[in-house]
Amino acid sequence: MSNVISGKELSKEIRKNVKKRVEELKNEYGKSPHLAVILVGDDPASLSYVTAKERACLRAGMKSTLIRKEISITETELLQEIEKLNNDNGVHGILVQLPVPKHINTNKVIDAIDYRKDVDGFHPLNIAYLHMGRKAIYPATPKGIMTMLASTKVDIEGKSALVIGRSNIVGKPVAMLLLKENATVTIAHSRTRNLKELALQSDIIVAAVGRPNMVTEDMVKPGAIIIDVGVNRVGDKLVGDVDFDNVKDKAAFITPVPGGVGPMTIATLLENTIETFLVCENDK
Ligand code: NDP
Repeated sequence: MSNVISGKELSKEIRKNVKKRVEELKNEYGKSPHLAVILVGDDPASLSYVTAKERACLRAGMKSTLIRKEISITETELLQEIEKLNNDNGVHGILVQLPVPKHINTNKVIDAIDYRKDVDGFHPLNIAYLHMGRKAIYPATPKGIMTMLASTKVDIEGKSALVIGRSNIVGKPVAMLLLKENATVTIAHSRTRNLKELALQSDIIVAAVGRPNMVTEDMVKPGAIIIDVGVNRVGDKLVGDVDFDNVKDKAAFITPVPGGVGPMTIATLLENTIETFLVCENDK
């Protein structure tokens, strides 16, 4: 049996389940979940992300609206656009593709989205609820990672987990989700002095740094579970933060790059859109 957790396969399964659920919701509520995505400017990477999200929504039978705004849009105008979507009963999920141009304050944008429609799970209320262990919309990448861990059927409770990286979109929320599952969690970052020592003690390692092959075979305890979030371009290849080829045989489970955490993110975004749909429709 392979010890590689395929995000490609797992995400297909999630999309299939989401599609089935959307059908049920259509019958029950007479409408399907509707995600509105705002893209400011025409950065090619951002455009390709939002296009992928839109395609995934449509394939799942959801409604998706892409709202494109000129890079010259003012902060006030963008906040007004968000407010319009907040008040639109036909919109269940709102996502503003980040980064926004420098003249716009990212925090103001995140704060402006109704937290009940916040499919990215970046709103301070959703983050606070996550930290409090209350029901919340969880950020897609960390939630997708938890789905990958669950797919191994390994009980996380009591396991030692090391999260390398402390960003608001990956490191911190994934640490909270691991804690919620009763792992004993350590968060490492660029000032951590004894990374190898910490890694060698860990049953689970989540690497979310953005440095190619920084987790090497000599840092991994035999039988550990390794989740590689990193996406790094080396020449014309995409590689993760983990030296996959050499760590693979030592780990009980490991995620590849590409085809690992990446595909889980959009699939999980679809799951989040179903969640926000239910909150919006049942809150009326
Ligand atoms: P950030 O740049 O926001 O955070 C990187 C973190 O790594 C920081 O907390 C930083 O520490 C830490 N770090 C840097 N150098 C070291 C080091 N030598 N040892 C230990 N920790 C270190 O990145 P993101 O969290 O946004 O993303 C991380 C990676 O995951 C990137 O490669 C990104 O492309 C990828 N990613 C992939 C996604 C997917 O869907 N597959 C989604 C999101 C991200 P400090 O805080 O001290 O600076």
